[in-house]
Amino acid sequence: MCGIIAGISLEPILKTTLTQLERLEYRGYDSAGFAVIHNNQISAIKTVGETKKLAFPKALSDATIAIAHTRWATHGIPSETNAHPHILDNKYAIIHNGIIENHADLKNKYQIDTLSETDSEIIVHLYKHFLAVTDSQEAAWESTILELEGSW
Ligand code: GLU
Repeated sequence: MCGIIAGISLEPILKTTLTQLERLEYRGYDSAGFAVIHNNQISAIKTVGETKKLAFPKALSDATIAIAHTRWATHGIPSETNAHPHILDNKYAIIHNGIIENHADLKNKYQIDTLSETDSEIIVHLYKHFLAVTDSQEAAWESTILELEGSW
């Protein structure tokens, strides 16, 4: 079962985020990753295997927004490409726990090419799609979630 941590702080948050991620290791996982926003850029670090291998560059250590994930692969092998977060256009990043049962249908319906083999990556593409045709982030998320079948 995977684990998810996310945080926004006025203080640097990365160390805390990774400590909290370690606390979720007992749930079992095969790969892990995190993303931070730093200088208006999303940076992601991923690894196959233990979270302690997530060496983060010092340049990111004062980031104040982070998401992190331990993955238990259901779709696609444990690999850095398949590890979460899934990033799109250096603007959107998602981590997901569960299974998107209709991910193949959605790929066809919206003509989406994904980088990874995961079911999860479809979420970030759908969000981008709906953001372009709706008037708010909330509306885009609502439309995205309405398309998903499965668990998250
Ligand atoms: N189904 C997703 C994947 O294979 C998420 C697995 C999980 O919950 O860790 O990447």
